[in-house]
Amino acid sequence: NFERVVARFPYHDALIEAGPVPGADARRWSYTKLNDDVDRLARGLLALGIGKGERVGIWSPNCAEWTLLQYATAKAGAILVNVNPAYRSHELEFVVKQSGMRMLVTAPSDRNSDYVGMARQALAGCPDLRELVFLPAPGGEGPDGGVAPLGAAELTYAELLKGADAVAHSALTARMAELDPHDPINLQYTSGTTGFPKGATLTHHNILNNGYAIGELLGYTEHDRVVIPVPFYHCFGMVIGNLNALSHGAATIIPGRGFSPAAALEAVQDFGGTSLYGVPTMFIAELALPDFATYDLSTLRTGVMAGSPCPVEVMKRVISDMHMKDVAICYGMTETSPVSTMTRQGDTLQHRTETVGRTMPRLESQVIDPASGDVLERGEIGELCTRGYAVMAGYWNQPEKTAEVIDADGWMHTGDLALMDDDGYVVIEGRIKDMVIRGGENIYPREIEEFLYTHPAIQDVQVIGVPDEKYGEELMACIILKPGEEPLDADAVAGFCRGNLAHYKIPRYVEVRDSFPMTVSGKIRKVQMRKEAVERLG
Ligand code: ATP
Ligand code: MG
Repeated sequence: NFERVVARFPYHDALIEAGPVPGADARRWSYTKLNDDVDRLARGLLALGIGKGERVGIWSPNCAEWTLLQYATAKAGAILVNVNPAYRSHELEFVVKQSGMRMLVTAPSDRNSDYVGMARQALAGCPDLRELVFLPAPGGEGPDGGVAPLGAAELTYAELLKGADAVAHSALTARMAELDPHDPINLQYTSGTTGFPKGATLTHHNILNNGYAIGELLGYTEHDRVVIPVPFYHCFGMVIGNLNALSHGAATIIPGRGFSPAAALEAVQDFGGTSLYGVPTMFIAELALPDFATYDLSTLRTGVMAGSPCPVEVMKRVISDMHMKDVAICYGMTETSPVSTMTRQGDTLQHRTETVGRTMPRLESQVIDPASGDVLERGEIGELCTRGYAVMAGYWNQPEKTAEVIDADGWMHTGDLALMDDDGYVVIEGRIKDMVIRGGENIYPREIEEFLYTHPAIQDVQVIGVPDEKYGEELMACIILKPGEEPLDADAVAGFCRGNLAHYKIPRYVEVRDSFPMTVSGKIRKVQMRKEAVERLG
């Protein structure tokens, strides 16, 4: 696949990483250069004796080397382990041990994160971890840009590449000939929104097919330029982003190392982005930039929004003010490579705000009663299940956990509540774990969030359930106000809801906050919010 794309578009842009200064110092790879650099890196891995199926971790914010390593591990037959860049030493050691990681490629330390120090600690504490590789600091590959290795187990990225000189290209082609599409290629941890992250084992077959299929529905060609501000450590960045763009000969554009709304829009403007990705909160931040109107976003035509539901008002502005008239909503989970349903070009605004589209080609969806397992009628709310090529091989080394979510017929039980309408559009109602049961009434927080979002003073809102002696649970609305707005209290919110929402859906508590606890993939950790709220309520 990779070679075929390279042969078709040898001189097209494959990868661009924006420099630290807008418009300047970008690093660029054509497809030919990308292929050469990936091969060199793959041979560097072989030179160290990395065997088929060995786990190679990457712990870094987005950078071009992340993408190169993604393809190099695939060619070398290793399994790439994506480590959340927000992790600290304890969590890092957990992932290193749980995955049986052999090598870890680590970002340079920065103001927020002593990656190098924590990686060294992991190296000392995890006997199976044999090599640490240090990535160069942004902008500087000179002697001061990198880290000085301390001993044989540590090497710089430049040294890893240099090792490739000792390995013939034929050794790499021989390795590639040993690979099977059903071999694992990636160990991808879930976002940890509802608990401890689980390691999903994904195969070449799983993620390549999913990435390609998403691009087909977006109408990607070699002329597309895809701006990816979402983390590569997650499927959204590495499959919906990198693999999708690559498999259609499009260019991948990395706006910068962490998410910055201004950098994302600058990248669209400077590199002619045709497609922009984000979770809804990222689009909210971009639209809220004080100088939003000064960016030239006229090259955009499409994009992907995924991960959590998008408020209607935000979607309208993304379509009109950001020119993303074909923006797609994708739904899925790490365990399904990730996308299982998606809107199509030409779907209505209503489809894109109220549904997550229809099932992807060559996958199946069904909605079941979580208690009995019976398939429900169209329009009834139950647990969404997915089946087909995109379902993971299983949780890494956790067969019991795998058996809890993939049943004997191959259905992946998503843990999400949904309904499917007569035309096959799927509506996500929230997670089974987030559903609030107040006085025996099932309440889907999303419905209340959508309504509160129409309040003129509210920028963002999350509704959670907190324990209550009388009703079992009561609703709490956690609100981020628009700049300069007066705080809202429970009475004001209740007044706004009365007459529009059933009485039992009116939040009893209201909390004004500056931010919500988030996963690195940009999802709001409601379980965490609930915990904090319970502590505060005493
Ligand atoms: P964990 O499984 O560790 O608790 P997680 O489920 O957030 O974390 P991911 O695999 O990254 O980990 O996310 C998948 C989940 O994200 C889905 O199960 C669903 O709840 C939510 N999701 C994904 N896309 C959408 C969407 N378009 N609309 C609503 N929810 C979505
Ligand atoms: Mg999950």
